[in-house]
Amino acid sequence: MKNQFIDALENHSLDELRRIPKSDLHNHAGRGGNIKYIGDWANTPILPPSSKFGSLGEMQEWFVSNVKSLCPGIQGYLKRIEASFVQAADDGIERLALSYGIDEIDALGGMESFIHTMDGLSHHYAPHTQFLPELAFDSRDNVDEALDRLDEILSYHWFKSVDICGLELAQPIGNFRSLYRRAKEAGLILKAHSGEFGTADDVMEAVEELELQEIHHGIAAAQSPQVMNWLAGHNITLNVCPTSNVMLGRTDNYSTHPVRALYDAGVPVTINSDDMLIFNQSVSEEYLNLYSSGLMSANELNDIYP
Ligand SMILES: [Zn+2]
Repeated sequence: MKNQFIDALENHSLDELRRIPKSDLHNHAGRGGNIKYIGDWANTPILPPSSKFGSLGEMQEWFVSNVKSLCPGIQGYLKRIEASFVQAADDGIERLALSYGIDEIDALGGMESFIHTMDGLSHHYAPHTQFLPELAFDSRDNVDEALDRLDEILSYHWFKSVDICGLELAQPIGNFRSLYRRAKEAGLILKAHSGEFGTADDVMEAVEELELQEIHHGIAAAQSPQVMNWLAGHNITLNVCPTSNVMLGRTDNYSTHPVRALYDAGVPVTINSDDMLIFNQSVSEEYLNLYSSGLMSANELNDIYP
């Protein structure tokens, strides 16, 4: 007997897909909203990017000039966070991991007011969504400075996971070991961006050095059957973001996306949005993209879909 999710894919019905509960486990909070929502608020239509980005730097430039410039200051930042919760509620996201940097905590005046503000937005705009806040270190961060802050941040028992984002391989991944040990002791889920721009070996090294349980992207692992076997054997989940990978030139299009090879090798994968205010594709649309391109069948996507 077919289920609702398979029906929705086979009918190419975005509306049906949106109504089915799903997860978004890789979402940079300040970039997770809908372009139209922010455009309407700013009273300025925002056109999605018209071509692929040559680098993360190019992507950042596009974001600053097309989106961030329309929502300046704290008020603009909070509107973008609001947009992420609104989008999650609209897309039937049942479990939402939003990642934040330490600079974002500081900009709102420290942990107490930060938590109060974020929980308030979560309750108001996505009351039925389980909010899973993630603490993201920048790959260029000074680890000692971050370590000085970590105990205080973790003492609130609010963050559920940690991440490293930004330019991959900006410094040896092992430099973050002390931070990850501390996060592990506090019971957080250990994640990091890896294998988006790096290699399969980089993915394995990141998992071993930091005892990661999940990887954001990790798609380079598809280049190595050995690394894929190893990830499958260790039950390491890859949080995959198809449109982000296409737009940043990590794969030509949906029909060539490495999630096919990862799935075939038995690596646990999830489908996520990454930066919807740039890539303009919801989690529901990402499932449809993979299905419509012929990369994966409705049954296979149903197998992935949590
Ligand atoms: Zn990301």
